[in-house]
Amino acid sequence: MKKYNVNLFNLPGYVVTSNFACEGFLQFNVKSATSFGTCPKCSKKSRVVYETKTRKVRHTNWHDRPSFLIINSRRFKCKHCKSRFWERFNGILPYNRHSQNFKKQVAFEAFNGHDNKKVACNYQIGQPTVSRWVIAYAKLEVNERLSNLCPRVLGIDEHFFTRQHGYATTICDLARRKVFDVVLGRSELSLAGYFSSLQNKDRTKIVVMDLSTTYKSIITKYFPKALIVADRFHVVRLLNHRFLETWKILDPQGRANRGLLSLFRRKVSNLKPEQRLKFRRYLMTKPGLQALYDFKNEIHHFLLKRAVDRRKMKQEIKRFNQIIYQLKESRFAPLVSLANTFEDWQLEILRMLRFSRTNSTTEGFHNKMERISRIAYGFRNFKNYRLRVLMQCA
Ligand SMILES: [Zn+2]
Repeated sequence: MKKYNVNLFNLPGYVVTSNFACEGFLQFNVKSATSFGTCPKCSKKSRVVYETKTRKVRHTNWHDRPSFLIINSRRFKCKHCKSRFWERFNGILPYNRHSQNFKKQVAFEAFNGHDNKKVACNYQIGQPTVSRWVIAYAKLEVNERLSNLCPRVLGIDEHFFTRQHGYATTICDLARRKVFDVVLGRSELSLAGYFSSLQNKDRTKIVVMDLSTTYKSIITKYFPKALIVADRFHVVRLLNHRFLETWKILDPQGRANRGLLSLFRRKVSNLKPEQRLKFRRYLMTKPGLQALYDFKNEIHHFLLKRAVDRRKMKQEIKRFNQIIYQLKESRFAPLVSLANTFEDWQLEILRMLRFSRTNSTTEGFHNKMERISRIAYGFRNFKNYRLRVLMQCA
């Protein structure tokens, strides 16, 4: 008999007896490589063949042609327990008419940006079949990747899920730059169940988050040993926001000018010489504007410091207290409110200067999650959404 290479179609444990190819499909006649079957009841080997039949199983597509395995399947009779049993094959589940490799091929294509309908049409199978295989494949992959070990550096943030279900919370492993998990809800009540079920919580040393009191109380409750670090992006955004409000009080017309607004928001170093000149000229027109702008830049520069040495921290703490005092002294309501926020989050913001980690990874993943949601034209079921997210981001 002519020998065929079984490795060609990636199924060990088979012997190919003959093959056939035409324009529409490929066909391999195969049989098991072993001469015996193992009894499922008593686990004894048996060589007594009781009856045979052929099974037709669809295998992976080869260059756009479907391939089929015609399997010569045997039913054995066990000498010990007298039971009869059909032999099992590698990569094909009992009663299935598609090989596991084929299911994986379909699921993989559905995951890589193609919609289920198109994949179903390409492979000439039903749409529900595709979505069933996709979910099964994703569950398998995700279970392999998920670990119950809490990450050392954790990032936590919220993102919008649907109008019906509201917000979801993203938990990121910032050291490995991967999504750790996604949980529906952002309130303490909806997250309590998830956080209490987590194991090895002592492992987490640092938690990076925006200035949200809910997350702060959750983290202090469930991760008592972790240090909370404020996220730089959110602190700077708040700073900009409060200073824009103060600008509006000083000069409502200038604040409404889009060009000036854009210049006010940017870092001084990012301005071109002519832009800097233009903005300086504007600042001269109203009293107090120049001082406000300089003060904002000063605080901005302070907040951008990272990985500050432990010995230099004393100086920074002094400077931060000075900033809070100056903000309160200004008597502008937005700036006083900013000072109060700084006071409430004093420890977290000062830790931010010590560390270099930010929540930028989490924000980046939010972008990706939005893309996943767009491709699927939105999700109704959070479980399916979570599966997709973990599949692509974990
Ligand atoms: Zn038996």
